[in-house]
Amino acid sequence: MTVPLRQSMAVGGYIARQKLAKRERFPLIVELEPLYQCNLECAGCGKIQHPDHILRQRMPVDRAIAAIEESGAPMVSIAGGEPLIHPEIDELARELIKRKRYIYLCTNAILMERKLDLFEPSRYFAWAVHMDGLRERHDESVCRDGVFDKAVAAIKAAKERGFRVTTNTTFFTHDSPDTVRQVLDFLNDELEVDAMMISPAYAYEKAPDQEHFLGVKQTHELFRAAFANGARKRWRLNHSPLFLDFLEGKVDYSCTAWGIPSYSIFGWQRPCYLMSDGYVETYKELVETTDWDKYGRGRDPRCANCMAHCGYEPTAALATASSARQSIRALVSSRQWLPSRRSKPPQPPHDGPPPRELVELPMA
Ligand code: SF4
Ligand code: SF4
Repeated sequence: MTVPLRQSMAVGGYIARQKLAKRERFPLIVELEPLYQCNLECAGCGKIQHPDHILRQRMPVDRAIAAIEESGAPMVSIAGGEPLIHPEIDELARELIKRKRYIYLCTNAILMERKLDLFEPSRYFAWAVHMDGLRERHDESVCRDGVFDKAVAAIKAAKERGFRVTTNTTFFTHDSPDTVRQVLDFLNDELEVDAMMISPAYAYEKAPDQEHFLGVKQTHELFRAAFANGARKRWRLNHSPLFLDFLEGKVDYSCTAWGIPSYSIFGWQRPCYLMSDGYVETYKELVETTDWDKYGRGRDPRCANCMAHCGYEPTAALATASSARQSIRALVSSRQWLPSRRSKPPQPPHDGPPPRELVELPMA
């Protein structure tokens, strides 16, 4: 697990407060989707099939902020669609940072380098760049040549400026233990990103490519082989050790999708950002009116092959927080006491003095 120590402590404190308040269900991270439009058409995507009048909609900043505040979540993953198309994306990020929410701004990186100036490095802000493989594999996955090279250039430029940069890699049946190792070695050792997220692809019903989604057994075999020989310990993976055990099939968990809920232009999505059984206006209503026992593998056929982080990472995170042994294991695997050699100190985006936050809040 490679989450900055201050962020881990803030989230740990938040979980402890929820437990003390005897709150049974609460969000750890909100998947915020302020638009569905994208500048790519990936074959495995289940988000861009909405009609044009929906794709043209943008969530106003004040509505997004109100939803995050009502939920109380300490972390927000801003996704879409492509969030950098949203004309107020920088203001949305600034308002969330002002409220001390830890943000991951997910992007396919096509617009990232051009829009770097709109953002400032902060310990509350991280890029999460979509990277499904090395050049040929990634460009095939996103159905456009040249996107891998653009993403690599944008990651380097962001790191030069002192941003925290993470990546998000989705694996399909095209992948083998070798392709998993190749892309993670490249991101970890050559690009030296701060942390990497990985996920088996979820079988969206609407995705044009239905042939390449992994089943549970295939997912276990893929990650068990890819993680062999100590590679898993070497990579800066942005997951708890228990979630990685889950991907390898060493432990099994039930789905706790209320821990990573989704808020989009339609409202809070029931039960998770992968499946849509309707929308409600508040997180409270989502938690209280959803029959959570209906969902998860073995309960709903649409969940049969799901091992996505939005269902199972909260379960692993809560299991970690409630076990001293697992908490120590997570801390040891994070190597948070080692000095970072990965990002340059934050650089001012323009001539002139650095923004105040760059002085007071060095990168974790
Ligand atoms: S970049 Fe993301 S949102 Fe855009 S088409 Fe690809 S998977 Fe969908
Ligand atoms: S298992 Fe959980 S996270 Fe996965 S699709 Fe079903 S409800 Fe969503």
